[in-house]
Amino acid sequence: MNKQTFHLVSLGCAKNTVDSDSMAQLLLRDGYRAVDDPSRAHVLIVNTCGFIGPAKEESLRVLRELAEGKKRNQILIAAGCLTQRYGAEVAEKVPGVDGVLGTRRWMDILQVVRELRNGPHPEPLYHLPEEAKTVGTDEHEAMRVSVAGASAYLKIADGCRRPCAFCAIPLIKGTAVSRPIESILEEARRLRDMGVRELILIAQDTTDYGHDLGMKDGLAILLERLTASVPDLDWIRVMYAYPGYVTDRLIDVMASSRQVLPYLDMPLQHAHPKTLYRMRRPSNIDWVYKTLDKMRSRIANLAIRTTFIVGYPGETEEEFQALYDFVKEIRFDRVGAFQFSFEPGTASEPLGDPVPAEVKAERYARLMELQQGISLQINQSYVGKTLDVLIEGRDKEIAIGRSYRDAPEIDGLVFVEGNAPIGEIVPVKITGAMAYDLTGVPVPSLINL
Ligand code: SF4
Repeated sequence: MNKQTFHLVSLGCAKNTVDSDSMAQLLLRDGYRAVDDPSRAHVLIVNTCGFIGPAKEESLRVLRELAEGKKRNQILIAAGCLTQRYGAEVAEKVPGVDGVLGTRRWMDILQVVRELRNGPHPEPLYHLPEEAKTVGTDEHEAMRVSVAGASAYLKIADGCRRPCAFCAIPLIKGTAVSRPIESILEEARRLRDMGVRELILIAQDTTDYGHDLGMKDGLAILLERLTASVPDLDWIRVMYAYPGYVTDRLIDVMASSRQVLPYLDMPLQHAHPKTLYRMRRPSNIDWVYKTLDKMRSRIANLAIRTTFIVGYPGETEEEFQALYDFVKEIRFDRVGAFQFSFEPGTASEPLGDPVPAEVKAERYARLMELQQGISLQINQSYVGKTLDVLIEGRDKEIAIGRSYRDAPEIDGLVFVEGNAPIGEIVPVKITGAMAYDLTGVPVPSLINL
């Protein structure tokens, strides 16, 4: 029996977590054992993030820490987005890295480990092919999922074909490649059989699903097929919709399915047409107003999340004010914001990074303060109502979970008095509200229905 061990650090977004868990599955299947303590691992892996400056720094820091503590019998592999784009620089900046794996070569992990463990490697071993391998093939025999308790991320596509000027993802990941629908359905069934209650569909742009497979309205079709294929799976959540691509058919599925959650995550990035134009994003704000109106009128209790960038090059006070007024008017349930951080090689490069850091920080603080007040008011409107809550943990006599309004890690929590069972979805009467989180008590008469 293989007594070898690995320690894997996953950085960045949920899409990266899926790749990390896929690598872990391959290693586990080969007899490796996962360990929390890096000093006890034979193989050290960091699945890096290359999204923005601070994420890159964190990736390098984690790699350096592991490299500095590395023992003679250990190998260190840098994988993920940062290495896909800057593989040679990463190996140069972090002496001690033995293997470099591109983001779409995660399925080579066993091969790289075997090659590295076969004998001395004076130079790092690179697995960084230019051409992306399709993520839909099953040759790697790993599920494209990350499971945490009763919730699982399922990756439906990888890469992005949008032209957003600030974003390095297309440079890192290449264009969008969708997974075949049957392969996604098969994984959904397996996850259901494993006891998963919530399936979270992710991709860089989920609304683009199936375009490369010649499908029209691919995401709506996928959801129709999914709900038919796993009718007993409780929650299906869709993340990362692209403005302009939320179609009537998609709205229909969300409105009519009891499984597809009334939750829309649509990163808008800005609300002033000129800023959006410079961002190379859809700049038709009328479409946004109309679509949100349509969705709100057709999908009962819709929760809307979005993300914005403040301090984009050329953002005037007037442009920022338009964003501020828009947030005030729409009253999103959740808003995330980033201060613009310049990414070399992106289409925004000629614009530089001219908005001073203190202006960015001040605008960010103003926007978030506005949103906190809105979130609090919306949360307060739930007091006295009953929400289904997926229980995920416990702290003493308080169970901690999420409602349909809360995606893991980025949204709020519901703190539930008592010992509601972990992994179950329980009806909870909301008794208190904070800016992000809610508190409540289980509704006993409903629990055993
Ligand atoms: S939609 Fe735009 S921001 Fe999102 S991954 Fe694609 S290029 Fe980047």
